[in-house]
Amino acid sequence: MSLHDPHHYVRRVVLPSGKTIEVVYFEDQEQTSGSAPVAATPAPSREDSITALHVCGACTSSLVYPTEWEEAGVTHWEVTLRCPNCEWAGTGVFEQHLVERFDEELDRGTEALVRDLKRLAHANMEDEIERFTTALADDHIVPEDF
Ligand SMILES: [Zn+2]
Repeated sequence: MSLHDPHHYVRRVVLPSGKTIEVVYFEDQEQTSGSAPVAATPAPSREDSITALHVCGACTSSLVYPTEWEEAGVTHWEVTLRCPNCEWAGTGVFEQHLVERFDEELDRGTEALVRDLKRLAHANMEDEIERFTTALADDHIVPEDF
């Protein structure tokens, strides 16, 4: 998937915790033909050294997430991964337990994200309330405003 894929666009959001996340908007989930995603990394050699799928092998960012996954036999999953930090992407076949741990890690990431968003919404509200009370105190808000 290239950055110029007309079917999705990416917005970078910096969260209060300092994390930068990318929100990817998809117009449709279909992979368009033509340019194949990214050269797949052969699984076996990678799997040996891999203990956590959310950590990027190229830049050690822990923001790697799956773009596709499907069962590959009874105990394995074929997962296509992408690192939003360095744009590394690859497909590998991984053991069930590794994928389960990845899933838990993603859940944690989602929880952290939701916490951040709540904090962000709260901070915005506080900011607004503060501005409002300051304006009130300074008599900048008069009955005519309502
Ligand atoms: Zn990376």
